Amino acid sequence: MTLDAATIEIPATPGRAWCEDMDRADALAPMRDQFDLPDGMIYLDGNSLGAMPKAASARAQTVVTHEWGTDLIKSWNSAGWFDLPVRLGDKLAPLIGADAGEAIVCDSTSQNLFKVLSAAVAMRPDRSVLILEGSNFPTNNYIAEGVAAATSGRVSVRLCEKDEIADAIDENTVAVAITHVHYKSGHVHDMAAITARAHAAGALAIWDLCHSAGAMPVDLNRCNADFAVGCTYKYLNGGPGSPAFLFAAKRHQGQALQPVTGWWGHAAPFAFEPGYRPQPGLRQFLIGTQPILSMALVETGLDIHLQADMAAIRTKSMALTDLFIHLVEQRCAGHGFTLASPREAAERGSQVSFAHAEGYPIMRALIAAGVIGDFRAPDTVRFGFTPLYVGYADVWDAVDRLVTIMDQGVWKRPEHQERDAVT
Ligand SMILES: *Cc1c(COP(=O)(O)O)cnc(C)c1O
Repeated sequence: MTLDAATIEIPATPGRAWCEDMDRADALAPMRDQFDLPDGMIYLDGNSLGAMPKAASARAQTVVTHEWGTDLIKSWNSAGWFDLPVRLGDKLAPLIGADAGEAIVCDSTSQNLFKVLSAAVAMRPDRSVLILEGSNFPTNNYIAEGVAAATSGRVSVRLCEKDEIADAIDENTVAVAITHVHYKSGHVHDMAAITARAHAAGALAIWDLCHSAGAMPVDLNRCNADFAVGCTYKYLNGGPGSPAFLFAAKRHQGQALQPVTGWWGHAAPFAFEPGYRPQPGLRQFLIGTQPILSMALVETGLDIHLQADMAAIRTKSMALTDLFIHLVEQRCAGHGFTLASPREAAERGSQVSFAHAEGYPIMRALIAAGVIGDFRAPDTVRFGFTPLYVGYADVWDAVDRLVTIMDQGVWKRPEHQERDAVT
């Protein structure tokens, strides 16, 4: 897999015509036909819930009416339900730089993080600190607190911000567990450098790929990562709440044990032995029966990704985000937006955030105008750019609607002030 992506130069004053030309020349543009998106909607939230692959409806129908409705229990063997976590993990592997047998699809990101952090704590019995990023998506840090609490005081959590992480690693560090692309700012951590730094101190490196898997090239093995976790419902288009994934490097399998010792991780689940015996490989990271309906749909998203060149996805992603920043700063100048993502495309994932004191009503007004992004408290409007179904003219149109909302003060209307539970 190529990690280097070419750069596309954005003109000083890009117009809609330039965007249309770019769309016509874009080799990824036809991929959009594989997704079902409502007419007229500009969907800039694939970093939170990816769009639906057209193949998903038919796949769901087959699983429900045929595999479940007709074949019933036989489907555990005949439809490959038993092996699904492993088979999907092998399909995902090339997208994250893993080898076959190193990735498995199961449970949620939060649960998988609990498993790998606990395994890491057991692998470094004479060490006492887990290092995480304080401003990370909170569940990661909550889970680390729980892992530490389960050690009755042996292990504690140390929270650092991006530039402090490398220096915080020392001979007491169990592991660094960092999210590759920051959920709010989109900042990309240097996976190779932080992993090397951790290893030099005898610590382990655990990566959360929620905002990078499917959005940009990831090469876990080239970076020598120990463990990784991530979502399939964001850039991988697996469907709402679809099971997450877990990566364990070959060298740790059979050595690293996760503590949620359910029958699915037993060496012989159908021998129904009275005591737990760990499966010697990757399956030990499983707990119990997987949700087949939801997991089956993960494949429809993976199949689309496997047709696309990840370097091309990255090149387009950098161009779309560069274009968006350029247009917002040019056309919404004076309206109070401050870029809250790295300006350099190479340091940014596939998303752009702006800080604005009135971010919440502005995002509501944008959503009402058919541009779907999201809001992250206290003041961040966040836009995700999925190169498989977002084009250059979409970026132009999204900014054009934002310009109207700001110029005409549409966001000030009372209906845009109310707070929903999910933002
Ligand atoms: C989206 C996301 C999660 C989601 O965790 P769930 O267990 O699926 O709810 C966790 N961590 C990060 C960094 C995320 O971006």
